[in-house]
Amino acid sequence: MSKYWSQLVKQTDPYVPGEQPSTSDVIKLNTNENPYPPSPEVTQAISRQLNDSLRLYPPPSVDDLRETIGDYYGVNKNQVFVGNGSDEVLAFSFMAFFDPGKPVMFPDITYSFYPVYARLFQLEARTVPLTDDFSIPVEPFFHAKGGVIFPNPNAPTGKYLNLEAIEQILIHNPDNVVIVDEAYIDFGGESAINLLDRYDQLLVIQTMSKSRSLAGLRVGYALGRNNLIEGLNRIKNSFNSYTIDRLAIAGARASFQDEAYFQKTRAKIIRTRNRVTDELKQLGFNVIDSQANFIFITHSGVNAGQLYQQLKANNIYVRYFDRPRINHYLRVSIGTDEEMDIFLNQLKNVL
Ligand SMILES: *Cc1c(COP(=O)(O)O)cnc(C)c1O
Repeated sequence: MSKYWSQLVKQTDPYVPGEQPSTSDVIKLNTNENPYPPSPEVTQAISRQLNDSLRLYPPPSVDDLRETIGDYYGVNKNQVFVGNGSDEVLAFSFMAFFDPGKPVMFPDITYSFYPVYARLFQLEARTVPLTDDFSIPVEPFFHAKGGVIFPNPNAPTGKYLNLEAIEQILIHNPDNVVIVDEAYIDFGGESAINLLDRYDQLLVIQTMSKSRSLAGLRVGYALGRNNLIEGLNRIKNSFNSYTIDRLAIAGARASFQDEAYFQKTRAKIIRTRNRVTDELKQLGFNVIDSQANFIFITHSGVNAGQLYQQLKANNIYVRYFDRPRINHYLRVSIGTDEEMDIFLNQLKNVL
């Protein structure tokens, strides 16, 4: 605490990201990064941008990248907003679409940035408990008194909600913006982008950090109707006109242009996830059915907090949340097959 802090700083409760260890001899399964490098086209495109043009501001409207993303998903570039990571897109969305006095609704177990943003922007939050099997229940989100937001697949459970369920939430919220945070949709689910034609109030947010191996480049984007995108632009242009730098624009565009590489690496992760899930079940773990690049696991004979420490002592980092309902679980990102074999062997040693 400092007497110089504003009221806003005093009341914040910042998000705590997973550790980024400084050594490279760690098997890092704690922040859902992609174990494979970005497409070589991406690194080449960024290298080509390392030139005199860096003296110039990047284009503030990010037209070229928005067009690339729009073409990829079959929508107009005016239906695309790009931000400095999807966390920024999420923050701008809270500012653009949610109001004090109208509670924003999200699951009790979900991405921990949502309560942080609600507090920062002085919004009331209303949480909806997941069912006992960690599914997002649909009816409690009907006729919300403010905005609705949830990840699909959910984090940290990895559980996927089908589009029929999401459509029910939209049908019963004609006057509220409904945000579907699809950070992990490329690992098996069907995107709500397919519902954009039918629902004015739907905003779909995705990121290049997970399925496109670009967590370090910081590019996320939202797809929605023009007027929602315009709302986001009004916030961005009241905040920082240049959130996406020249290198990020070049790298992000190149990623969307290398579809073969994207499909290959994403299929590899899905294959590894399914194999590791089977092996963990044989070791007696309960593994929540995941459509993401991580799994949420528990074992009746093992203390999750202790297992987290034991793995860490052996240079294997996973994520443990010491919170009600999930403090028996570990969240484990899917690495390469070699990394996952080391993880599995370590488990066999301690079980
Ligand atoms: C990782 C993650 C994000 C943020 O990704 P960025 O790196 O900021 O694009 C957003 N939502 C969920 C649910 C995530 O897991």
